[in-house]
Amino acid sequence: MSANLHDVIVVGGGPAGATVAALLAKSGADVLLLERECFPRFHIGESLLPCDLPIFERLGLKPLEAGFLYKAGAEFMDEAIGGRAVYEFAFALPGTPDHAYQVERALFDAWLLERSRALGAKVHQGERVVEVEIPEESGKDRVVVRALRDGKGANGKPLSNEYHARYLIDATGQDALLGRLMRTTVVIDEFGLGAAFTHWVDLSPEVDEELCVTAKGVIKVLCVDDGWCWAIPLGKRKISIGLVSRKRGIDGSWLMRTIEASPFLRRVTHGAKMVRAPRLLVSWSFYNRRQNGKRWLCIGDAACFIDPVFSTGVSLGMVSAAHAADVLVDALKHGKEGDPDLMNGHVEYMHHAYNTYATLVYNWYHTSLLHSMFFCNTPPENLKRGLTSLLAGDVWRNDNEFQKILMESKKRRFVFEQGRA
Ligand SMILES: Cc1cc2nc3c(=O)[nH]c(=O)nc-3n(C[C@H](O)[C@H](O)[C@H](O)COP(=O)(O)OP(=O)(O)OC[C@H]3O[C@@H](n4cnc5c(N)ncnc54)[C@H](O)[C@@H]3O)c2cc1C
Repeated sequence: MSANLHDVIVVGGGPAGATVAALLAKSGADVLLLERECFPRFHIGESLLPCDLPIFERLGLKPLEAGFLYKAGAEFMDEAIGGRAVYEFAFALPGTPDHAYQVERALFDAWLLERSRALGAKVHQGERVVEVEIPEESGKDRVVVRALRDGKGANGKPLSNEYHARYLIDATGQDALLGRLMRTTVVIDEFGLGAAFTHWVDLSPEVDEELCVTAKGVIKVLCVDDGWCWAIPLGKRKISIGLVSRKRGIDGSWLMRTIEASPFLRRVTHGAKMVRAPRLLVSWSFYNRRQNGKRWLCIGDAACFIDPVFSTGVSLGMVSAAHAADVLVDALKHGKEGDPDLMNGHVEYMHHAYNTYATLVYNWYHTSLLHSMFFCNTPPENLKRGLTSLLAGDVWRNDNEFQKILMESKKRRFVFEQGRA
C-alpha cells in the first residue's frame, strides 16, 4: 500500500460518519474523516431511538454517564380534541430495546467524533470536500478526493489537499455530496415542507422535573394546524421546540404563534428564555436513487432522509453506518472492496427501513390510520406493541403484525418513485 493511500475516506463527521469511521478504525482500518465544520457546532435532530443502543455498546460509549437524557418513548397529543397517547418503548414487542436518549447535537456529535479519533480514525475538521473522482468515471482503481481547508495560504489562495483511498463513504447529510454531484437525489414533497425551531433555557424547575423525571424524558409530538410540533426536553432546564409545516413559506413567527395557541407549550415555556430567534429549514425529505457503486457508498441522510416526525434520522444514520462498516471490514480484509456490487445487500437492507418509515410518515400526513390509533380507538395490544417497535427503530423483524398490515395495503404504502428529480 502506498503511503498516501488510505483504506477508507469518510466525508462528514455527523453521527453516521463518526460511527462508520469509529467502527472501521476499531477493526484496524486506516480511516481518514474529513469534516467541513469545527465541532462543536449546532445541528438539529435531538431525539434518538432505542435501535442505537447496541451501537453505543460496540463503540464503548455510555450516553447517560456523558450527561445525555434518558428517553422512555414518545407522547402524541392533539390538544384540539384533548387527545394524548403515550408509547413507551418498554411496551414494544419482546426484544426491542427499551429506551433511548435526548441529546444536544453540538455535544453529542463532538462526543461521537472524539470517539472515532480515540479508536484510531484520523479526523480533519475544517476541511470541505469539493471534488471527488470515483473509479466509474476516472478509470482509476482508487478514489480521489479534493478538499479545501479553512483559511488561506501565504499567497492568499485557499489551501487545498488531495487524498486517495481504496473506498469512499459519503456521510455528508442533507448536503448529499455524491447525490448532488451525480444529480441522483429525488425530492419528496408529500411530507413536511418547512421547519422553524429553537431552544428555550431556564425552564421552571417544576416543569423540568415533570418533563425529564415524571414523564421520563419522552418526546412530545403535538398535532397542530397544517403540521406538527415537537417538544424535546434536553435536561438542565433546557428544551427544544420546533414546528414542521405542510405549508410553504414558513417563518419564525409561525412557531411563536403555535406556542401561543398551545396550552401545553405555553405552560412549559412560561418564564423561560428563548436562546435565539428560530432557525428555518425548508423542504428536506429526499432519497438518493444511487447510493453505491465501485468503491463508494452513501450512508445516513446522504442516502435518504425522511420527515423527522418519528425521529428516525440519527438512529437510521448510525444503524446504516454500523451495517456498512461490517460489510466493508470483511471486504477490506479480503481485498474485495473494489467489487461494484459489494454494498447492494446493504442498500437493500436500508431500503427496507426507508420504505417502512416513509409509509408510516405518509400515513401520518395523509390518512387517518395513526390519528385514530393514537386518539380514537384502543388498538389491539399486538398492533400497539408492533407500532411501538417501529417507533423504536426495530424495523427488521418478521413478527410485527402492525408492520405487515401497514406495508401490505396498497392504499397506505408510500412509493419512493413519486418524488421528483
Ligand atoms: C427539522 C428537523 C428535525 C429533525 N429532528 C430529528 C430528531 O428529533 N431525531 C433524529 O434522529 N433526527 C432528526 N432529524 C434528522 C437528523 O438531523 C439527521 O437525520 C441526522 O443529522 C443525519 O446524520 P448524518 O450523520 O447522516 O448527517 P449530518 O448529521 O447532517 O452530518 C453531516 C456532516 O457532514 C458535513 N459535511 C457536509 N458536506 C461536507 C463536505 N462537502 N465536506 C466535508 N464535510 C461535509 C457536515 O458539516 C455535517 O457535520 C431532523 C431533521 C430536521 C430537518
